[in-house]
Amino acid sequence: MKAVINYGHGPKDVGHDPGAIGPTGYQETTQNKEVGERVVNKLKVNGWEILAIQDGDLWDVTNGANDFNPDYFLSIHANSFADNIAHGVETIALAAGGMGEKMAKEIQKELVAATGLTNRGVKFNNLHVLRETDCPATLVEIGFISNPAEEALMKQDLFDETVASAICRGFSRAVGVPYTEAVNPVAPNPEPTVMYRIIIDNKQSMALSSQDDAIAEVKKSIDAGQAQKGCVQRNTDFANIFEYAKVQITTPTQENPPLQTLDPSATPEKAGMGKETMTVEKFSSQTSLLRKILQLLLDYFKGGA
Ligand SMILES: [Zn+2]
Repeated sequence: MKAVINYGHGPKDVGHDPGAIGPTGYQETTQNKEVGERVVNKLKVNGWEILAIQDGDLWDVTNGANDFNPDYFLSIHANSFADNIAHGVETIALAAGGMGEKMAKEIQKELVAATGLTNRGVKFNNLHVLRETDCPATLVEIGFISNPAEEALMKQDLFDETVASAICRGFSRAVGVPYTEAVNPVAPNPEPTVMYRIIIDNKQSMALSSQDDAIAEVKKSIDAGQAQKGCVQRNTDFANIFEYAKVQITTPTQENPPLQTLDPSATPEKAGMGKETMTVEKFSSQTSLLRKILQLLLDYFKGGA
C-alpha cells in the first residue's frame, strides 16, 4: 500500500510559492504542511508506505509522485477567494466515477462531520496534480484561509489534528483499508485564537478579534435597517454570544416564527431601534469540532504518552 501525500505549494527552499495568504499573513504552504505531516504520520502507523512531496513546481510534484508508483495520491490545500465571506470545505476529483471521486466523497463526509464547517461538496476540476498523476487522485481544500475565522482556526494545532484524522478516516474507508486512529502528540495551544463572527441575516459578513467591536457592528447593521437580525458567534465553540433583532410586531405562526425570543420584562426599545439579548453560552449542534478536540485530548492523556 503506497500513497503520495502532497502538501500544496512550495516551501522557501523548493520553488517557493506561498499559495494563498490569509488576512493576517498566514501562508497556505505552511498550513498545508501542518496538516499533511499529520496525515503522513497517521497513515504510516497504519502500515502505509508514504512519499511526502511539497514543491512549488507542479511537474516536479507529479513526476516525483509517478516515480514512486503509488496506489493513491492526495493533495492538501487551503482555499481562498477575493470575498472573505467565502467559507467551508470542499474536495476535488478529476472527474465523476472511479476511485478519485470515491475518495473525495468519503473525505468530504468526514471533514464536514469533524469540523462542523460548511459543506461545499465534492467538485470536479481538471487540475494538474489530478490529471498528471498515474493513480487515483484527490485534492482537499480544508477551509478558506482568506476567511478570517477559518484562518484563525487553521493556526490551531487541534484544528490541524482534527482535519488530518478526518482525511485519513475518509481516505482509508474509500480504499477499503482498516484505519486506527493514532493521535499525534500535539501541545495544545494554551490560548486559542478567538474570533467573533458577525452573522447578519444568517450570512457571515466578517470576523473580528474584538467582541465589543463585533457586537457594535451587528447593532449598527440592524439599527440602520440593513437587515432583520444578527448575531455574534465565537469561532472556537460556535456559541452565539450576542443576538440582536429588529423589533417587529408579528403574529407567530408555523410559517412565520418570531425572529427572536425577546425578554417580555424588558422595557420597550425606542422606535426603530433593535432589541438585544445576551444569551447564556449555548452550544449549537455545530459543536462537533469542539467535542472532537476534547475527545482527542482525553484519548491522548489517557494514553499516558
Ligand atoms: Zn492551494
